[in-house]
Amino acid sequence: MTDESKIRSFDFHCHVDLDSNPPDLIQKCEEYQVAVLAVTTTPKAWSQNLEWTRGSRFVHAAVGLHPELVGERFSEIELLEQHIADTHLVGEVGLDGSSKYRNVYFKQKEVFERALIAANKHGGRVISIHSRKAARDVLRAIERHIDRTRVLCVLHWFSGSIGELREALRLGCYFSVNSSMLASKGGTKLIESIPLDRLLTETDSPFVKVKGRPSTPWDTVELVGPISELFGLPSNEISETMWRNSTNIFQFAGIEFSS
Ligand code: MN
Repeated sequence: MTDESKIRSFDFHCHVDLDSNPPDLIQKCEEYQVAVLAVTTTPKAWSQNLEWTRGSRFVHAAVGLHPELVGERFSEIELLEQHIADTHLVGEVGLDGSSKYRNVYFKQKEVFERALIAANKHGGRVISIHSRKAARDVLRAIERHIDRTRVLCVLHWFSGSIGELREALRLGCYFSVNSSMLASKGGTKLIESIPLDRLLTETDSPFVKVKGRPSTPWDTVELVGPISELFGLPSNEISETMWRNSTNIFQFAGIEFSS
């Protein structure tokens, strides 16, 4: 039995550094055998995350600049580009068209596009992308700047239209889905339209709540049941597919889950 088969589930979008005790959370991911894409929200936070995850087999840090923080952190745009040269994992980046962040939408676009351009230049990059109320513009930017043989785009907590979802599939995007999406009508409608070979699981911890508490990466184990019901397939088949999709994507970024 290889180490790979020990992974129980995958959390493709988790804010490990927003937990009250990140080193402890990372340790627990090792114990529970859950592989995690640990997104960060500012380029400055990435180095600390890298330090925390250095000894971890399962938790891997991504460098990002969250669209909600672009207003106050725009000056870190060059640092973001520099760090994209140093890591194969990028996120959280993207666009947020909510009224609250609309005033910096132009700056958000600059940050997102420059992140995509840097990732495409270096190649072998995987990006976790935020697209709330901005799916159209996110897809346009991907179409314009990304060569899908060089960069894999994962749309996290996607909430666009079915038409936009199809467009994203055409562009080669993957989708990471969480328990909030599975609990909503609109969310399940979208998930049903995602081919299984493009589907991944996430928590967006600590933002998504599970039973009234902030979610944890090992809550992804519980997503397999509802997904298998939705697709009318046995849960072991869903688990195997999630495992295959996830390990393929990490492998694209040069990360192998073996000792
Ligand atoms: Mn997030």
